Amino acid sequence: MRILVCGGAGYIGSHTCVTLAERGHQVVIADSGVNSSPRVMPRLQRLVGAPLSLHRVDLRDRTALDALFTAYRFDAVLHFAALKAVGDSCRRPLEYFDNNISGTIVLLRAMQDAGVHRLVFSSSATVYGEPAQVPVREDAGLQVTNPYGRTKLVAEQLIGDLCQADPAFRAANLRYFNPVGAHASGLIGEDPAGEPNNLMPYICQVAVGQRERLRIFGDDYPTIDGTGVRDYIHVVDLARAHVDALEYMVRADRSFTVNLGTGRGVSVLELVHAFERACGRRIPYEIVGRRPGDAAAVYADPTLAQQLLGWQAEHDVDAMCRDAWRWQAMNPQGYRSTTRRATPPRLRRSRAVGARLADAY
Ligand code: NAD
Ligand code: UDP
Repeated sequence: MRILVCGGAGYIGSHTCVTLAERGHQVVIADSGVNSSPRVMPRLQRLVGAPLSLHRVDLRDRTALDALFTAYRFDAVLHFAALKAVGDSCRRPLEYFDNNISGTIVLLRAMQDAGVHRLVFSSSATVYGEPAQVPVREDAGLQVTNPYGRTKLVAEQLIGDLCQADPAFRAANLRYFNPVGAHASGLIGEDPAGEPNNLMPYICQVAVGQRERLRIFGDDYPTIDGTGVRDYIHVVDLARAHVDALEYMVRADRSFTVNLGTGRGVSVLELVHAFERACGRRIPYEIVGRRPGDAAAVYADPTLAQQLLGWQAEHDVDAMCRDAWRWQAMNPQGYRSTTRRATPPRLRRSRAVGARLADAY
């Protein structure tokens, strides 16, 4: 299939482009560059072993989108393009609604007019808010606690309404839990701008010496060791889930919503210790107060994804930490890095195209 990947130069989108190409699909990327570096492209092309086209397009620009839909006949769209920082969304709610919701509306209109009827949408476990019960199933109550989460919920609802109104339209809402890790090559990974909001990139920056210590937000939760519990999922498993979801949507000709997580809750301290094993260094930390709005424990029931897509996560927490560390060690400044300052761990054997290429890196 020929796939338009909106937000394909970002963290999860770039990994998904690799998996799409590995599975024989043709990829065209549309990305505004609001949170991505053009330096991802030569690395992506190296990983897939073929030219990829990147178009600098903001989804809110209908003229630019129409030009893309005219230039290519797409079979489906993968929609990763959004702003995603919770705290930032509280400060700039209009920007988040404009980018995430207006962008989605313009994209859906362009798809309809071009006769493209298949969408895979990046949703989030944030739509469950503080879940009443874990593991969280897809039929759990939905409640959002910040503007970013609201944009995900509204987009899901909007897409659901379109599926009702247009009998030809098919959509997959993928509710990610906590994506972490990086491609085994160390060539692509997460490159947060400024101070990371999320735990894993923060740990990575402490490990590489860019930040002095991790602040752990609370050790008095009713969890295994008092620290918050989340469901970390390797980004390569997540990327595979997108292609499985796309292929299932075409095969079964239906719309659906699934959780994407491992089903296993991991505490902040457990992740810190796993990372220490992976990098062979101590991660200094201090315990500080709880972060407002944080739930004690959120982890997925991933049964539905297994039943519908035949998908389940394969990488464990040690693999997530090893791959996150390799990326960080090889690219201490993310895509701005020009030199490697630390010795990355040995690549493990993998049949993935990227890993083979990376052996020569
Ligand atoms: P990212 O910021 O790395 O990638 C998003 C990409 O979209 C970036 O390259 C950005 O430049 C682009 N973009 C943003 N707005 C755009 C617009 N209007 N037009 C065109 N391009 C635009 O984020 P990510 O971590 O790869 O997340 C991808 C998606 O998954 C997002 O929708 C995010 O909300 C969702 N998600 C992420 C997480 C996570 O923890 N990373 C968790 C749950 C859901
Ligand atoms: N966390 C932390 N210090 C940080 C960032 C996060 O202790 O610098 C904790 C946070 O309180 C939560 C877990 O790590 O319990 C995961 O946080 P993250 O922001 O990565 O994911 P989310 O809370 O959005 O699921």
